[in-house]
Amino acid sequence: MSEVVSYRREGEIGVISVNYPPVNALGQGVREGLQSCLREGLADDQAKALVVIGEGRTFPAGADIREFGKPPAGPALPDVINEYESSEKLVIAAIHGTALGGGLEVALGCDYRVALDSAKVGLPEVKLGLLPGAGGTQRLPRLVGAKAALDMIVGGNPVKAKNALEMGIVDDVVSGDLLEGALAYARKLVADKAPLRRIRDLDVQTEEADLFASYEKSIARKQRGFKAPFHCIKAVQAAVELPFEEGMKRERELFGELLVSSESAAQRHVFFAEREVAKVPGLPKDTPKRDVNSAAVIGAGTMGGGIAMNFANAGIPVKILEVKEEALEKGIAIIRKNYENTAKKGRLTQEQVEQRMALIQPTLSYDDLGDVDVVIEAVFENMDVKEAVFKELDRVCKPGAILATNTSTLDVNRIASFTKRPQDVIGMHFFSPANVMKLLENVRGEKTADDVIATVMDLSRRIGKVGVLVGVCHGFVGNRMLHKRQAEAVQLVNEGANPAQVDKVLFDLGFPMGPFAMSDLAGMDVGYRIREELRKENPENAPARNWTDELVENGRMGQKTQAGVFDYKEGDRTPVPSAEVDKIIAKFREENGIATREVTDQEILERCMYVMVNEGAKILEEGIAARPLDVDVIWIYGYGFPVYRGGVLFWADQVGLKTIYDKVSQFHQETGDDVWKPAPLLEKLAKEGKGFYS
Ligand code: NAD
Repeated sequence: MSEVVSYRREGEIGVISVNYPPVNALGQGVREGLQSCLREGLADDQAKALVVIGEGRTFPAGADIREFGKPPAGPALPDVINEYESSEKLVIAAIHGTALGGGLEVALGCDYRVALDSAKVGLPEVKLGLLPGAGGTQRLPRLVGAKAALDMIVGGNPVKAKNALEMGIVDDVVSGDLLEGALAYARKLVADKAPLRRIRDLDVQTEEADLFASYEKSIARKQRGFKAPFHCIKAVQAAVELPFEEGMKRERELFGELLVSSESAAQRHVFFAEREVAKVPGLPKDTPKRDVNSAAVIGAGTMGGGIAMNFANAGIPVKILEVKEEALEKGIAIIRKNYENTAKKGRLTQEQVEQRMALIQPTLSYDDLGDVDVVIEAVFENMDVKEAVFKELDRVCKPGAILATNTSTLDVNRIASFTKRPQDVIGMHFFSPANVMKLLENVRGEKTADDVIATVMDLSRRIGKVGVLVGVCHGFVGNRMLHKRQAEAVQLVNEGANPAQVDKVLFDLGFPMGPFAMSDLAGMDVGYRIREELRKENPENAPARNWTDELVENGRMGQKTQAGVFDYKEGDRTPVPSAEVDKIIAKFREENGIATREVTDQEILERCMYVMVNEGAKILEEGIAARPLDVDVIWIYGYGFPVYRGGVLFWADQVGLKTIYDKVSQFHQETGDDVWKPAPLLEKLAKEGKGFYS
């Protein structure tokens, strides 16, 4: 008899109760207990009907993810659910908390479902690259119709009890005491002599003839490269087209394919990595945190406005400071416009817009910042300007206030040294657009205090970001790797590739856009100005001129001038290859005596990706990132690296580090370029036959 599930009787109703904290996950013990208690209930002559309920905070909330990858131990969940469905006595699921995945599938094996008003139900397996593999794809369509089932299974989002009632997933919603409510419901069924209601015997409703083809089409763009959403559609289609038993077989097959797929392995990796990044190695879990109940942002430009919105969205009052009234008004107007646009799309009410605007307080005076808990500086990327700002902050801010900089390229230690409190200074590197992008690289300076790190990591979560802790170096983790890739992309074009070809290779790998579409979006003048600065400051070591300099000097800055590496039509962001750019590139090659050759797609992939892997290895060696997973999360949330490939370093492991190392060494020999000098860590792992994650 299992200890985690128990059977008792309340009057004429048998109660099967799951008690496996924290979330009653459907591990082996729970499955076994559910089975034996059902048998006990069926054998109990006094019990006229059975209620299944979870103790503690929830009905079983899903599979036990600790069992993933281990050999299966019986009984299998589909078999347990099958026994419930075959029961000769009525079984009622009493749902509270979150009945997700296998939890909802258990409930679907019951005849009726009663939910607490605060409960949620859902089938989120798709988010781990899987599908509900215990009958969910076969039973839910029978209960709610194929279209509604597709929305839930392919979308993966839970629905609230009230909606579940409307959809017909649950039969009753109660408030107060769930067990009382479920027992009352069960007694009434018994009194009414209600018949058994096995979902497998219900007919599936199909609303549209071409539902599945059109559904596939509707998700094709957004779910490009993912396997699970398309397998989910196939499984629901099987529910419509095949008898129940055959549909179950099909579900099993499709589930099995996903379970061993690289896409699901990558998605599960990302799922864990995203949780793991919040835990900073070496920072004790009980490190105290400073209170953050108010914030200030310096600079109301592109980044400052978006950063302020994050705080307002989280309900934290935020002041925003500019030197000139005009810039302040402009910044505030853009924030308002952003909110109004969201309201127009129906995602905010006008009242919420006003509430958020009321949390953002414009100011022209540093003296207004004396009481704030955290300040984020987002002024021009210039050390002198940063120095002036941090000296002012040091003067006015209260002791213990956290002073953060959003710099992308400047030395955080140097910025900290402008204050008399370097322990309170940290980098908070947001990505553009700052109110949208989920990544936040938190940059730990040499002197940053532990409690400042702990506070900022927690604050990241509070304002809806995925915070990753990194160390100080040029470009930190993300941009440092990105710049190497961009340089390689430019060089590939020098040698004979064309920009559209380079972009296509990386788009096909799964990036939302290629390197050149990306630089057109960001504006090519930014990089140009940085290169020009370097050429002035340090001509010996400066980056050589390349064809992109010529583009900028010809007025082609990117999307904002409707011309960059590609052409753009008015109001259209689609990159179109440009004959003018081809000419500029050809002229550049000619003037510099570059003989062109054919560059293969494979070479583009290797050079653009392996250069990042090599740099990533250097970043790990230097301790700029603590773990490979930190690098991977940065690439996924900051640059749209495809989740189904798990991140740059997870992907590298799949390719094989030996393969990558050999190529990196070859490129190094051929070019003599430092960027291709194999990172010792890469060399070591490759020679030991290991990966970043082994
Ligand atoms: P921006 O030019 O759009 O905005 C800068 C704002 O700062 C302007 O509104 C300006 O009036 C104001 N400002 C200048 N000096 C000031 C001072 N002394 N006091 C108060 N306000 C002052 O620039 P941005 O793109 O928002 O960049 C700001 C910072 O964010 C830079 O350090 C940049 O490196 C960093 N950053 C930018 C991006 C990006 O994609 N734009 C991404 C990450 C980080």
